[in-house]
Amino acid sequence: MTTPLAGQMMDVPLTVPSLLAHAARHFGSTEIVSRRIEGDLHRYTYRDCEKRAKQLAQALIALGVEPGERVATLAWNGYRHLEAYYGTTGFGAVCHTINPRLFPDQIAYIINHADDAYVLFDTTFAPLVDVLAPQCPKVRGWIALADEAHLPVMQTPVLSYETLVTAQDGNYEWPPIDERQASYLCYTSGTTGNPKGALYSHRSTVLHAFGAALPDAMSLSARDCVLPVVPMFHVNAWGIPHSAPLTGAKLVFPGKDLDGKSLYELMESERVTYSAGVPTVWLGLLNYLREAKGRFSSLNRTVIGGSACPPAMLRTFEDDYGVQVIHAWGMTEMSPLGTLSKLTWEQSQRPLEEQRKLLEKQGHVLYGVDMKIVGEDGRELPWDGVAFGDLHVRGPWVIDRYFRKDDSPLVDGWFPTGDVATIDRDSFLHITDRSKDVIKSGGEWISSIDIENVAIAHPAVAEAACIACAHPKWTERPLLVVVKRPGFDVTRDELIAFYEGKVAKWWIPDDVAFVDELPHTATGKLQKLKLRDIFRDHVLPSALEEEKDCPLTPLARGNPVSR
Ligand code: ADP
Repeated sequence: MTTPLAGQMMDVPLTVPSLLAHAARHFGSTEIVSRRIEGDLHRYTYRDCEKRAKQLAQALIALGVEPGERVATLAWNGYRHLEAYYGTTGFGAVCHTINPRLFPDQIAYIINHADDAYVLFDTTFAPLVDVLAPQCPKVRGWIALADEAHLPVMQTPVLSYETLVTAQDGNYEWPPIDERQASYLCYTSGTTGNPKGALYSHRSTVLHAFGAALPDAMSLSARDCVLPVVPMFHVNAWGIPHSAPLTGAKLVFPGKDLDGKSLYELMESERVTYSAGVPTVWLGLLNYLREAKGRFSSLNRTVIGGSACPPAMLRTFEDDYGVQVIHAWGMTEMSPLGTLSKLTWEQSQRPLEEQRKLLEKQGHVLYGVDMKIVGEDGRELPWDGVAFGDLHVRGPWVIDRYFRKDDSPLVDGWFPTGDVATIDRDSFLHITDRSKDVIKSGGEWISSIDIENVAIAHPAVAEAACIACAHPKWTERPLLVVVKRPGFDVTRDELIAFYEGKVAKWWIPDDVAFVDELPHTATGKLQKLKLRDIFRDHVLPSALEEEKDCPLTPLARGNPVSR
């Protein structure tokens, strides 16, 4: 046996601060523009950002923060949040981004579970911090992202970020960091049970940034001006704060105002070419554009993910506004990117409608992620676009185990995502459901997402959710719950008729219920568990009909609230 021959290239670790160092040195004058809580637009460069991130690192070290300790953020997208990303990870501390939209009790649980040493917060969250502080006695200090003049009046004693940062000179070299050290801590939104922590490493973060920037992924470049609407408190804004400095793209941060008008005005004034966010945000922007008869003068691509992008939205962006939609799928446990809808050369030669059908799916994996779908027996299912199965993934930026949990979530070395999907012959992933949301009619699965997408395409529908309802013959049948668009009207029968020819006959919902609003999670996803609870006593007309021949037992009447 010969000994394997070692490569003779430099052993330079893949670390988070190297991304900002690269941007500061090679794209030093590229701008970072932020709409601030203070109300104005703040502008500076990657060079300035690195200096201030170093000043923050010096300040945190002076406060006694050790490498490996967690420093949390409760903040909107802005330059100080970016400094916090790098000023913590840069010296080996862990940046723990907290989603302020979670319930305060959940946030307190997360802060205590993470054992956060300090919490940096935007002043809009001052009332929240006053609620949290008494529940989090181990936090050594709360730092308001403001200068002394803008410190909010609070019960909790707080420090001023600007005072801490400006007291330091920024003459600081990022210390050596092992690339396998922890970089960021992100918690899942915890729709079932307590939130769980995904602890990324420097290596996984940098590899993800490389992967995300590729042309067939998020396709970021130094020619881009990027406005991430996806919050920096939500899975690192899908990695944009890392892949933008990696490529040298200009960054524009929208702050707290995410309504259609504010986003549109900022996109136009900064000549944004590229954006990313969840469907709900784009709904707001598209509504605003329609009313204001606006056009984009610079935006040419946007990533839509976090929930299924309704095909109608994709078409509106592309046909009415000339903006290419990149439909992406991923999750916190995957840093988050998994798949993106980009066509190969061969696919782009096919008829337009066929291309569209592919682009509506969640797409192709990017290098760094492998995927498979498995049946109930754990065996891999064919990639024929028909077989539904549990989606499993693996790769260098996929979770191995949750923070402070001993048991491994993996199955044969793969991470079960909890999503149900098909994969077609083109290797395109199509998410049909969360496994706990699938509707099983007569033993066959119906995709609630596909049903919702058809409803959304109806002009009178603002939002739709499809859930399972008990049925004596089929066990479960789909119930569509709809929020009407203001000023529009549609009846139950019209909506049911709208499905004719669009989905298989047996997928058509048995009933439609109209509501004023649908319940959402802290990350804007439909909260089906809650919805099923609300409709637990709903009886489908088709079930009543069936009951004449086959009475429902009291047990069978209970709708499937939880699985
Ligand atoms: P993120 O919202 O950033 O993707 P989360 O961890 O909060 O990350 O949520 C992950 C879950 O969101 C996925 O497991 C999937 O159920 C759903 N999801 C994300 N993107 C999509 C998409 N494009 N289509 C359908 N579901 C999606």
